[in-house]
Amino acid sequence: MTSTAQALPYTIPTPELFIDGDYRPAVSGATYTSVNPATEENVVDVSAADKADIDIAVRIARLAFEQGPWSRMSGPDRGKILIRAAELIEADAENLAGLEAIEMGKLFGHSVAGDVPCAADTFRHFAGWADKITGTTALLPDFGPQPRFGFTIRQPLGVIGCITPWNNPLVIAAWKVAPALAAGNTVVLKPAEDAALSTLRLAELLAAAGLPAGVFNVLPGLGEAAGAALAAHPGIDKISFTGSARVGRQIQSLAGDTFRKVTLELGGKSPQLILADADLEQAMPWIAMGNFYHQGQVCAAGTRVLVHESRLDEVVAGLAEVAQSSVVGDPFDEASTMGTIVNRKQLDQILRYVETGRAEGATLVTGGNRIGERGYFVEPTVFVGHNDLTIAREEIFGPVATVIPFHDLDEAVRLANDTKYGLNAMVYSQNLSATHSLIPRLRVGTVWVNGWGVPDVSMPWGGRGGSGIGRELGRSGLEADTEEKTVYLGL
Ligand code: NAD
Repeated sequence: MTSTAQALPYTIPTPELFIDGDYRPAVSGATYTSVNPATEENVVDVSAADKADIDIAVRIARLAFEQGPWSRMSGPDRGKILIRAAELIEADAENLAGLEAIEMGKLFGHSVAGDVPCAADTFRHFAGWADKITGTTALLPDFGPQPRFGFTIRQPLGVIGCITPWNNPLVIAAWKVAPALAAGNTVVLKPAEDAALSTLRLAELLAAAGLPAGVFNVLPGLGEAAGAALAAHPGIDKISFTGSARVGRQIQSLAGDTFRKVTLELGGKSPQLILADADLEQAMPWIAMGNFYHQGQVCAAGTRVLVHESRLDEVVAGLAEVAQSSVVGDPFDEASTMGTIVNRKQLDQILRYVETGRAEGATLVTGGNRIGERGYFVEPTVFVGHNDLTIAREEIFGPVATVIPFHDLDEAVRLANDTKYGLNAMVYSQNLSATHSLIPRLRVGTVWVNGWGVPDVSMPWGGRGGSGIGRELGRSGLEADTEEKTVYLGL
């Protein structure tokens, strides 16, 4: 498969660590190689941070926090810089999208139209919060002879450590960094090894917007070295992690030892509940998108398609039609509707899950094969089966749907909640009362009704159970990056 990537207007940023407003190699001199998943060609060698570099970056970020000016700047002034950052991100859309396409195979067009505007909007949204970080007041009863007044203030936490995954690196970095900065914190971020370049570019854009040196530091590196060192670092006030449950568990136990704040945005195995009265003409594109968008490499993917038994054949046929008409190809080609899987390991994992599905007796309706021999392309895949299959229990992180029939609403709820995850659920129905009564019964952080999509920056996002702890985005996300202090004022 050929790539038109070389002809496109993107520039690879200096592939080093961005610390204190400038690039530098890792202390050890180590690098790792970033690979283009569409061509299997090397993109660039990237400096690989380890504990020594993390120590330096945390010290710099702490100094920037203690000395200011960022942490002491007025909210409106911080907001102006964040708004300028949003404008620079928008102006750099094709460059950022090109970096994501070449490193992790996301469709260039989807990044230009979706990820980059979402990242810009995130900075704009939290810029608006920078001068609205307020506490509460209380008219307290007198304490003996003393009249009192009570109030709270919200202060920045200090240095926030962020660890991001490869699947939506720019958006997820924005979700973590924009609220942290709006609240006056400083940040050390370790991006995923498969997709660090757009985050390095983000650091350049924030610096160009006027963010002082040392406030936002980006340290690419391997998870077990740079990620683990950041997660364990005593100089960090909070760890904000998005990634797998496996690593989330380790980070949670480290945070437990140090009483550090932690937000975990982990995986999902989300149900899409299609009730008997669903308008399938309206719903089918959403149901399919919930499985195949970004090759299924989405935490919120709705890969357990729970269908009322009366609509099973229609839903299976509808999903198969979308799968078979998908154009899986070069992420830069406008004709492609799906790009590549991020790397060889992930491709092999998807193909192994397909084999497991077959071996456990699921019915393969369509797909299941690698496409071509160069690049990590895979067919969108549809199985019909039941909720006890491995493919219905584990997060595959690939375009593999398992359609599961249910008999009545109680069974639908039981199946939906029969999972170790709890990120989100989708409900398709024209019956408002039935839908409304389902929502509180679903053990998830977010419910989409008659649709599926990207979380909106103004609404809280996060999961329950194996999908994580805490919330990002919206007011909840902002407040999670602050400490609330209570003051009793004797009068
Ligand atoms: P991953 O857990 O393998 O890696 C995530 C990050 O953690 C990377 O930067 C990695 O280098 C780092 N890391 C790896 N080992 C580490 C360690 N021992 N200590 C500290 N850091 C370490 O996940 P991934 O494969 O990059 O991403 C896919 C996962 O992310 C999926 O499970 C997906 O559902 C989840 N995800 C969740 C959300 C959400 O909002 N809930 C969003 C996107 C992705």
